[in-house]
Amino acid sequence: MDGYIKGGETLEYEQFESIRREQRKTLDEKIETSINAIKEGISKSKRPCVAFSGGKASLVALHLTLHLKPDVMVLFNNTTNEFHETVKYVRDLARKWKLRFYEVKPKLNYWHIVKKHGFPHQQRYKFGEPKCCQILKTDPAVEFYRKKHIDCVITGIQASESGARLLLTAQKGIIFESESIGNARLPRKIIRINPVCYWLDKDLWEYIERYNIPVNPVYEKYGIDRCGCVACTGYFGWEKELARIRPRILERIYNMMGITQLKLDEETEEIRVRDNKVTLDDFDS
Ligand code: SF4
Repeated sequence: MDGYIKGGETLEYEQFESIRREQRKTLDEKIETSINAIKEGISKSKRPCVAFSGGKASLVALHLTLHLKPDVMVLFNNTTNEFHETVKYVRDLARKWKLRFYEVKPKLNYWHIVKKHGFPHQQRYKFGEPKCCQILKTDPAVEFYRKKHIDCVITGIQASESGARLLLTAQKGIIFESESIGNARLPRKIIRINPVCYWLDKDLWEYIERYNIPVNPVYEKYGIDRCGCVACTGYFGWEKELARIRPRILERIYNMMGITQLKLDEETEEIRVRDNKVTLDDFDS
């Protein structure tokens, strides 16, 4: 592969290879790289903020940052599409760790948004930022950053999570300046740090265990490896996962999609949806 063209910019093979090299490093080496990036970012910042979702990656990003800046602002963007255990866990942790904690909510809830704009495609960034991500996540966060004059945002993005995040890491690296988040423009450039962008899930779990950090109970309770929006249709396998952990939400989604027949194939345990009148693509915004 010579290069990959993304948004008019050609990414070289070397940019992906350097991510692979970072990913092959030991946990201690990764911690050092992460700490150096956070140090560099916060030394240039007056008002840094950690975006904490309650997930394991942003938990590690938060834990690393607190060592260097215990009074860092912490934003929990409550999408209203969270596991109730996540909301409780985040609020409890904020109290326990005495965080400088803020919680924001969107103007519309998920169901209103998908009714108007459709459900997110299972490859959710294939057509740009889904409308629900913009309204539930980006807009409230950007409004908060504006109001609080945030000049540095630390997030738990990992290159290994998705193609979009791999590309972002290849393009920008672990620390960069940006005038936008998602589709939203910011009033001025801010520093963005993704301290765990080179970490794999196993590194996160090892770090969490090493420092005995309290982790969101949803991972164990539901046997899942992501803890974001509950009713998300924006990833492969969402139907099967919802059938297992929240069948009533799956039913509600199918009802809204106009899908009336929902059968679980007892032999394969696969869900057979479909009266084939409607497919997910009909709901792309
Ligand atoms: S994670 Fe899924 S449900 Fe949540 S805002 Fe993004 S696309 Fe929508």
